[in-house]
Amino acid sequence: MKTVNDFNFKGKKAIIRVDFNVPLNDDKEVTDATRIEAAKPTIYKILEDGGSCILMSHLGRPKNKEEEFSLRNIISKASEILGINIKFSEDCIGVAAETAAASLEEGEILLLENLRYHPEETAGDRDFAEALSKLGDIYVNDAFGTAHRAHASTAIIAEFFPDNKCLGLLLASEIENVNKVLSDSKKPVTAVIGGAKVSSKITVLENILDKIDHLIIGGGMAFTFIKAQGGNIGASLVEDDKQDLALEILEKAKEKNVSVHLPVDAIIADSFSELASTETANAGEIPEGWMGLDAGEETNKIFEAVILESKTILWNGPVGVFEMEPFAKGTIHLGNAIAEATKNGAFSLVGGGDSVAAVKQFNLSKKVSYVSTGGGAMLEMLEGKTLPGIKAMQD
Ligand code: AMP
Repeated sequence: MKTVNDFNFKGKKAIIRVDFNVPLNDDKEVTDATRIEAAKPTIYKILEDGGSCILMSHLGRPKNKEEEFSLRNIISKASEILGINIKFSEDCIGVAAETAAASLEEGEILLLENLRYHPEETAGDRDFAEALSKLGDIYVNDAFGTAHRAHASTAIIAEFFPDNKCLGLLLASEIENVNKVLSDSKKPVTAVIGGAKVSSKITVLENILDKIDHLIIGGGMAFTFIKAQGGNIGASLVEDDKQDLALEILEKAKEKNVSVHLPVDAIIADSFSELASTETANAGEIPEGWMGLDAGEETNKIFEAVILESKTILWNGPVGVFEMEPFAKGTIHLGNAIAEATKNGAFSLVGGGDSVAAVKQFNLSKKVSYVSTGGGAMLEMLEGKTLPGIKAMQD
């Protein structure tokens, strides 16, 4: 697959699918610009070559072209971050977009209005993709967050650029970093899978068993495993219909010589609340009415020891309800252990959903090797799927 580094953009208009689906507050101001920052290297490379950039993205899930989902809301923040006054087109296709694109000069950036103002975007409509393709000379996909969707701008459009399509630097580095875990990993390899539900992580668990030496299972999902093994888990989170599957995963792990580490103790609470009474209990001996909301101290020590002897670490999902202060210690302990292992030379990848939020909240972003920008996309890659947005670049 080619990247932007394989092209010279001098005099060319790049049409770039970015992921500017950023959070806005009630005043419609950008509250977290990480995704805009992440698109910078690709945009700069193109501008430095002497090209121009046409940026297309979605924002939220508009039904009826609501103002709150207009990409106009992010112009000032994006202009500030990129250091250039960005131009804007009121529609992403049609005369307005074509005129704006045609008059774009070297070194300029044009942002198109929300792609999802047109339902054809998510439907993967070919005519809509073709209309978008008319705006640029080279198609660049740099939107990892939507690479698992076969939408018009993320996959279908690529067929109109058989020789002139490439990955942006963000998407290329996301792929490279996942492959450091899945293909070219240094052993021992440890996956920490936490979070709320077994059901959302089963395919990941099944796919990674072939690639890892240790599997740490934490968070709410651990209780389904503990109950399946005969433990008493009180009122802890559980998916009763997934108990057989949990046992199957443990069996498969054994066959593949993967050591599984489940919590041995837990911080338990008498309600799902920051103000609940708390105690420590053995993970399989939780009294009726009490629920495990964080890893206990013994568990933290065991998880830490495994992490410190690992050379490759994947972290997906918190090991407790880290959003509530009394139940954040396990996730902090784990995050610090991963940071220490990284300092000692291990490669660590944090990806998918809430572990990324935890890493940010506890200031660990710079202490791990790579933090992925795509939640669902990262999970699907870990599940072993080829993402449509990436596949379109290979064909
Ligand atoms: P996920 O999106 O599947 O990674 O799940 C993340 C969520 O799992 C976070 O919001 C955590 O609060 C939650 N979580 C972690 N541990 C537990 C637990 N023991 N009981 C209930 N929820 C938990």
